[in-house]
Amino acid sequence: MTHPHPRIPGRRFLHSPGPTPIPEAVLHAMSAQPMDLGDPRVDANIVACEQGLKRLLHTSAADVFMYAANGHGVWEAVIENLAAPGEAVLVPATGHFSESWAVQTEALGRRVVRTPWREGWPMDVAAVEQGLRDDKAHAIKAVFAIHTDTASGVTNDLRAVRCAIDAAGHPAILVADVVSTLAAVPFAMDDTGVDVAVGASQKGLMCPTGLGFVAVNAAALAAAQRNPSPRFYWDWARRKHEQSYRKFCGTPPQNLLLGLEAALGLIFSEGLDAVWRRHAQLARAVQAAVEGWREGGALGFFAQDPATRSHSVTTITVAQGIDVEALRAVARDRFQVALAGGLGPLTGRAFRIGHLGDCNPAMILGAIAGVEAALVTLGVPVGDGGTRRALMSLADAAIQPSPAQVGTGALFQGGLEPGRAVDVRAVEE
Ligand SMILES: *Cc1c(COP(=O)(O)O)cnc(C)c1O
Repeated sequence: MTHPHPRIPGRRFLHSPGPTPIPEAVLHAMSAQPMDLGDPRVDANIVACEQGLKRLLHTSAADVFMYAANGHGVWEAVIENLAAPGEAVLVPATGHFSESWAVQTEALGRRVVRTPWREGWPMDVAAVEQGLRDDKAHAIKAVFAIHTDTASGVTNDLRAVRCAIDAAGHPAILVADVVSTLAAVPFAMDDTGVDVAVGASQKGLMCPTGLGFVAVNAAALAAAQRNPSPRFYWDWARRKHEQSYRKFCGTPPQNLLLGLEAALGLIFSEGLDAVWRRHAQLARAVQAAVEGWREGGALGFFAQDPATRSHSVTTITVAQGIDVEALRAVARDRFQVALAGGLGPLTGRAFRIGHLGDCNPAMILGAIAGVEAALVTLGVPVGDGGTRRALMSLADAAIQPSPAQVGTGALFQGGLEPGRAVDVRAVEE
């Protein structure tokens, strides 16, 4: 009998921005038999995950609640806990992901105040402040801000959102979606003044999909307590419990939690600074390749300001007439590089290269070369030297292990500067 999907020789390079490749150590940790709920290993595993996530989020004050859910599940948790039907939430527009969260919020009977979206640019922080100033009655209960909109490939400045809320003198709770930035881009929850951080397992955390979590500070817990809207499964008060299985409102997803503990161990043994630097280097290499390709005239960056281009995912726009799905199919089937398509308004107009999680220079070079080969196969003009530029960028990064790029700029403020390396090129020029 022939199998409809023949064996793939070698390994397919997965470069979607989630799900991302899973390290062998995580896969091994997950291949365990279930445990009874009284087994002390269950508690130890849950505590390790909670503490590891708090360390990763740079929070000492917040409570971590984990759900057997994907990112949309934890979006729902935040909506249900922080706003009652009829109350409002402000969602700064960042692209497809902010719009999806807004639509989900409205579907649950809450009102949404959106800020205008300028394609290719970060959120309009001035409009956030103005929207809050205009809300004299404080009907807006929370601001739902996305750190990196994974469809846009644009990273936003969360500290600026905190400042906007404070400048408006508004009591709204600041919720930050760090699903695609956690363990990829510097983030410090307490320091940034984020009240609730939202994450999921299948992106920078290198685990399978299915484990979502929130970190909730005292102000957000108090706001949830004031919220009279009925809820059960998602309810934070119910999950704040001594008994570990009650923290999950039922059986914990044990194998995912074993995987998460292993993944957190990998992150901390590499060193969080080193993880951030690696992501910056790999992103620079991908973006160097795109700079080369765009000389062919058919491709471009969606993110207009280079300083806001994500370290997790690069969104590449294509000229009219280029079939993104055909490109993905050729890249996947012939060259074994799996890419993501454009989402929402970018459907058919863009493709995305994920470069987060368990990723290294050789994987990036393979992916870039595979994408370039697929583009050439389809006759897309890509200039001459995108792959070469990625290679040179990585060679340069190897000479200069702490890129000065990391640790500068508004996105990386807050005592988190991973390196103080001298930028060799800047000195030479
Ligand atoms: C992936 C992602 C989500 C949604 O996660 P799912 O697990 O696909 O539901 C939410 N926010 C951001 C920023 C994401 O990248």
